[in-house]
Amino acid sequence: MSKKDKEKTNKSIAKSLKKQWGKAKELVGKTFKTKKYLLKQLAEEKKRLAEEQKKVEEMAYAQRTPGLTCPQCSYRMDISIAMLLAGEPIVCTACGLSLTVEKEKSEACLTELKKVNEAIENVEVIKNNTQL
Ligand SMILES: [Zn+2]
Repeated sequence: MSKKDKEKTNKSIAKSLKKQWGKAKELVGKTFKTKKYLLKQLAEEKKRLAEEQKKVEEMAYAQRTPGLTCPQCSYRMDISIAMLLAGEPIVCTACGLSLTVEKEKSEACLTELKKVNEAIENVEVIKNNTQL
C-alpha cells in the first residue's frame, strides 16, 4: 500500500468513525431526554398518588372517628364504627349518660356502617400495596 493510499484509507476510517460517533451522541441525547421525561412523569405520578393518599387518609380518619353529640349535655363524643358495630352501650364521658344502640331499629344503618368499615379496610390494603 502506497503512502497516499494509506492516507486515503485513514481519512475514510476517520470520516466513518466521526459519522458513527455523531449517531451515538444523538442516540445518547435521545435516551437521556427520554429518561428525563420518564423521571418527570414518575415524579408527577408520585405527587398525584401522595395527594390521593392524603385524601383517602383524611376520609378514612373522618369515617373512623364519627362523633355523636350527647342528647343530655351536648358533649361531643368520639365513637368508632367498631364500637357501634359491637352494640355496646356508649357512655358520655361528660355526664355519664349511657346510650344503647338499638340493634333492631338501627339494623339498616349498622349494615351501612359495616360496609363503610369494610371499604376503609380495603382502601388501606390498596394503599399499602401501591406504595412506591
Ligand atoms: Zn353527656
